[in-house]
Amino acid sequence: MSVKETPSKRTLNRFRNAVISWFDDNGRDYPWREDTTPYRILIAEMLLRRTTATAVLRVYSPFLATFSSIEELARADQAEIQRTVKGLGLQRVRANHLSRTSKTIQNDHGGEVPNDLDVLLKLPGLGRYSAAAILNFAFGQSVSMVDGNIAHLVSRVLDFESASPDDESIWKLVDNIGQPDHDRRLYWGMIDLVALVCLRSNPRCQLCPLNNLCEYYRKAT
Ligand code: SF4
Repeated sequence: MSVKETPSKRTLNRFRNAVISWFDDNGRDYPWREDTTPYRILIAEMLLRRTTATAVLRVYSPFLATFSSIEELARADQAEIQRTVKGLGLQRVRANHLSRTSKTIQNDHGGEVPNDLDVLLKLPGLGRYSAAAILNFAFGQSVSMVDGNIAHLVSRVLDFESASPDDESIWKLVDNIGQPDHDRRLYWGMIDLVALVCLRSNPRCQLCPLNNLCEYYRKAT
């Protein structure tokens, strides 16, 4: 799948700058956006998979108070981890992934969260998006990331035929939008725009910083 016409560099720059500027004024505050040390970002990304930020907000601080480091988490009983993430759903699977990943990091990487994509992708519970998010948010690496929400936003604005994060061409397109530095505010901004403005039903286009670029909006008006 692809965009019907390849967007110009100027369009991609306008997209990027509009999202970052909007995020600076409207972005949501989360503890994992304040303290971006690798352990905290790893935990945030593992907790955020397949649930909402609101749900994670309820367990994030208690989780870190109970397991303040990779070492503590690796030593923990899986049942205790499961109790701590209760409320996020999939707590059994999530606790299993958290336990196995922390043990691998502790035993094979000296307790340091790896900063290599291929290594991260081998850890239980991390997919391509969450591994890229760790590299970008925790290590400041210039890498792009696409999840279902980012794919949804990009596909609406740029008239992309697919809104699947499994589509390689969406990754390529987002990579072009984020060049050259893949500022983390772009990604946080896209996530927040989908949560607050570009709702799947009844998007709030009048409030959207992308409405002068958006094909979905143009067709609807
Ligand atoms: S203009 Fe509307 S449809 Fe387009 S990105 Fe903004 S909220 Fe979504």
